Amino acid sequence: MSIRPSVRALTRYHFTPRTSSVKLDQNESPFDLPEVVKAAALERLQASAWQRYPDLYPRAVQEAIAARHRWDPDGVVVTNGSNVLLQALVIVAGIGQSVLTVAPTFSVYALQARLLGAELVEVPLDEGFALPGNALAEAASRRRGVAFIANPAAPTGNLHPREQLAPLVERAGEDWLVVIDEAYADFAGSDHLDLVARNPGVLSVRTMSKAFAMAGTRVGYGLMSPDLATEVRKALLPFSLSSLQAAVALAALERPEYVRERVALTAQERQRLSDGLRDLPGVVPFPSVTNFVLFRVPDAPRVYDGLLQRDVAVRRQDHLTGLEGCLRVSVGAPHENDIFLDALQDVLSKEAIGG
Ligand SMILES: *Cc1c(COP(=O)(O)O)cnc(C)c1O
Repeated sequence: MSIRPSVRALTRYHFTPRTSSVKLDQNESPFDLPEVVKAAALERLQASAWQRYPDLYPRAVQEAIAARHRWDPDGVVVTNGSNVLLQALVIVAGIGQSVLTVAPTFSVYALQARLLGAELVEVPLDEGFALPGNALAEAASRRRGVAFIANPAAPTGNLHPREQLAPLVERAGEDWLVVIDEAYADFAGSDHLDLVARNPGVLSVRTMSKAFAMAGTRVGYGLMSPDLATEVRKALLPFSLSSLQAAVALAALERPEYVRERVALTAQERQRLSDGLRDLPGVVPFPSVTNFVLFRVPDAPRVYDGLLQRDVAVRRQDHLTGLEGCLRVSVGAPHENDIFLDALQDVLSKEAIGG
């Protein structure tokens, strides 16, 4: 077969689906969309003409997002999931050039670089998962392309301060597109739009999968200059956001109050999870501003399997350099977090007596 070698060589996206009743492995919202949002979305769908193509680009969704962020609607690019936008950015500025990121980080950046045959440059995070600001700027100085920085960071959960971003951001422009992936910004209360507004080579990527509880709907977007948005849209397929996706997005954006309430509950529960983890022998939770907590255990594969046997799914991260022994747990509903902590305590006590 004529499959390109870079495709053959690619390992697939690393995920094993689990059917555990306590599912804390994908950083999803533990709660479904509020009934009023679902009802409003269904009403929109009922009133729409399903046989018609949707807008070429979903103008009403762009406007609703623009209003939320006080941004120019022409600078809003909406895609079916933000992963599609990440791919479009590699097409626009990575192919034939470079993709620059850190390690460990969100795996999609490296996967898309490899798939599309861009040079991949990964700079290791510093001690304490700190952003290696100067090393990134140094790596950028001999190349051009697209740089991806998740901030808040994933899967580590920390927020990189502005000083560490600055050396890379200063290189944005002619030679570099600097992408700040803000998938978890709602939880952290963080925002980089001032950087985007000041620098046309910087853009922000958001998703409705996490704080908006819409992972199943697949809606993500980017906030950037209208000029850059015009270029990025060229890398998207026409009519790619369905009228179904647009209806759900509009219903949620019209009633976003639930997001704030849930973010507050997530912060409380995240604290409780971190405290509970710290109290367990040999367990080290890392600080998080997101809806998940990374933690180190004495024997990650055994703890992971032990949790699965107790019907709790978390995510392994111990295959990543620098994250040896680490697992990641999403912040669930209060009763799910209780079940997780009890199950973990049980697994660890069995392990201690060699059972
Ligand atoms: C979850 C996540 C996304 C969201 O991806 P979607 O395709 O929008 O669901 C993007 N970036 C990071 C770092 C994430 O953790």
